[in-house]
Amino acid sequence: MSKHTFSIGGVHPHDNKISRDCPIRPLPLPPTVYLAMSQHIGAPAKPVVAVGDKVNVGQVVAEPGGFVSAFIHSSVSGTVKSIGPRKDLAGNPVTCVEIAVEGDEWDESIDRSEDLVTAIPSDNKAIIEKIRLGGVVGLGGATFPTHVKLMPPPGSKCERVIINGCECEPYLTSDFRTLLEKGEQVVVGAAILRQVMGNVPCTIAIEENKPEAIVHIREVIAKLGYEGIEVMSMKMRYPQGGEKQLIDAVMGRQVGSGALPISVGAVVQNVATALAVYDAVQKNKPIIDNSVTVTGGCLPEQANLLVRVGTPLQMILDAVGGVPESAAKIISGGPMMGKAVVNLEAATVKGTGALLLLTEAETRRGSASACIRCGKCADACPMGLEPFLLNRLCKAGDLEALEANAIQDCIECGCCLYSCPANIPLLDNIRLGKGAVLGAIRARAVAAKAAAEAAKQ
Ligand code: SF4
Ligand code: SF4
Repeated sequence: MSKHTFSIGGVHPHDNKISRDCPIRPLPLPPTVYLAMSQHIGAPAKPVVAVGDKVNVGQVVAEPGGFVSAFIHSSVSGTVKSIGPRKDLAGNPVTCVEIAVEGDEWDESIDRSEDLVTAIPSDNKAIIEKIRLGGVVGLGGATFPTHVKLMPPPGSKCERVIINGCECEPYLTSDFRTLLEKGEQVVVGAAILRQVMGNVPCTIAIEENKPEAIVHIREVIAKLGYEGIEVMSMKMRYPQGGEKQLIDAVMGRQVGSGALPISVGAVVQNVATALAVYDAVQKNKPIIDNSVTVTGGCLPEQANLLVRVGTPLQMILDAVGGVPESAAKIISGGPMMGKAVVNLEAATVKGTGALLLLTEAETRRGSASACIRCGKCADACPMGLEPFLLNRLCKAGDLEALEANAIQDCIECGCCLYSCPANIPLLDNIRLGKGAVLGAIRARAVAAKAAAEAAKQ
């Protein structure tokens, strides 16, 4: 049994990987896609197409709205029907480019052959530019623009690239299937990433509940003959795939409060991101599709689907027989960190990795009672926080104390909620408090900037 794991907190939920034997299969083209302009961390992208324009698959439809932002490409060929607000899965309006699908014409610059391209270009700047032009963002959930992560700030140096293949959230299997079915491409992507970061060592971290993937990727590395890439078998423990937890597990280094992984010499990318890097650099293929696990005990059929970005969620669920009557809750992502879906007309984004359907019995929480001060939430917190205290401060609205107690370090993993015998909605309350503190920090920054400008005049 592997010993590699993080040092504090964590829980062991049942992994429920009931879709693990479902190969990734393409979902038929939707009649319409809706491409959200805010589907990455950072500034929303700015549309560069107009209503009535004809577009091909892979054509740019929106440019980055700032340094931390990303290109958005058409995932289909067809005609731009509208540009305007549309509700996302939570019911919030987001600017979308609506494209009516007509055929499946791809941009000629994209290499659609199955040929594996292993020769990596030598110009690292050109590689990073290709990643930027490909609209590549972190596909492990964070959707942070990848090219920005690959340009460490002056004074910091990458010492190891970690490819996150843990997929520690219960139910999710799209990364596992990607490792099995696109292992060569993922390994070439990893080789590109380690070259760009200065030929540093690279660790592909996979949890021990995916032994086939561990064996397969080791074989691929040996077959391709890349040096400096290893597979590390990780102990099964949630949230092993959290960025800071993974760095701790692989490198034995702790990322400080508010600090970035690069501060300890680490750059972490997800398996799907490594594949997207391969596609962008070796095939000129931007992100136009992604693998989505569709799962839940109440579904007659489990699936891993290759879905064009911007596909309505309803269409994905129809492909597995529709939403069963017994489904009480639909979650985008896993049961621990996923977000509830309230609008099935919403469309997928680059970062959509799973749709999980749960029954009433599976989602029911016992009624909350008073805190019994057992400390289980603090024991489970992988960030070393005191969730019971944060919860109390959130309810009191004490933003200053929340900030002093590092609420911003919360990674919203849900371990505290999972562990609480009093069923206190810790994560829900902490999320609200975290949002309020973030708002206060931003307001302070704006006020400080205004004061500095006023002082100059
Ligand atoms: S959700 Fe936040 S407070 Fe709760 S265990 Fe995870 S990191 Fe800690
Ligand atoms: S786990 Fe629940 S009951 Fe125990 S200390 Fe934390 S909040 Fe209180």
